[in-house]
Amino acid sequence: MGVEEKLPSGVLLSTVEGLAGYMRKASFWPATFGLACCAIEMMTSGGPKYDLARFGMEVFRASPRQADLMIVAGRVSNKMAPVLRQIYDQMAEPKWVLAMGVCASSGGMFNNYAIVQGVDHVVPVDMYLPGCPPRPEMLIDAILKLHDKVQATPLGANRRAQIREMEAEGLVA
Ligand code: SF4
Repeated sequence: MGVEEKLPSGVLLSTVEGLAGYMRKASFWPATFGLACCAIEMMTSGGPKYDLARFGMEVFRASPRQADLMIVAGRVSNKMAPVLRQIYDQMAEPKWVLAMGVCASSGGMFNNYAIVQGVDHVVPVDMYLPGCPPRPEMLIDAILKLHDKVQATPLGANRRAQIREMEAEGLVA
């Protein structure tokens, strides 16, 4: 007889990894890090109309030590890149990066010497969000897709290698 049959109905079985993934995805603490016009939409997402708090994102943290999600909202200048990297390094693991908008994702229309052509040259990116600027609904949708990725991510030190494997197998977007 299986364990499930011995237990009374209504008992929910899970794994430690599943539980950890659920708690992580349900309590993102984003770093306060607006770089350009996209940041206006990011701030709007936290306001009463769109209410990011519905998804466990109550407060944007001013200290990277207290944050586990970096939303890169806007273009990244070459001068700002080392600062962005330092803030990323100061965030505790496990941490996640969302490139918000075409500028953060690829440099966008700013194909010039001053702008980093995609923030993935500076930090590893977990989710890319297109648009100029993406509307708050789009940002929320990207965060919910990132939730799926966080939920599916195993515990362990080689997290990024495992994510790449899962992406190659089509298990996560
Ligand atoms: Fe501004 Fe558009 Fe670039 Fe966002 S994607 S930072 S709105 S120019």
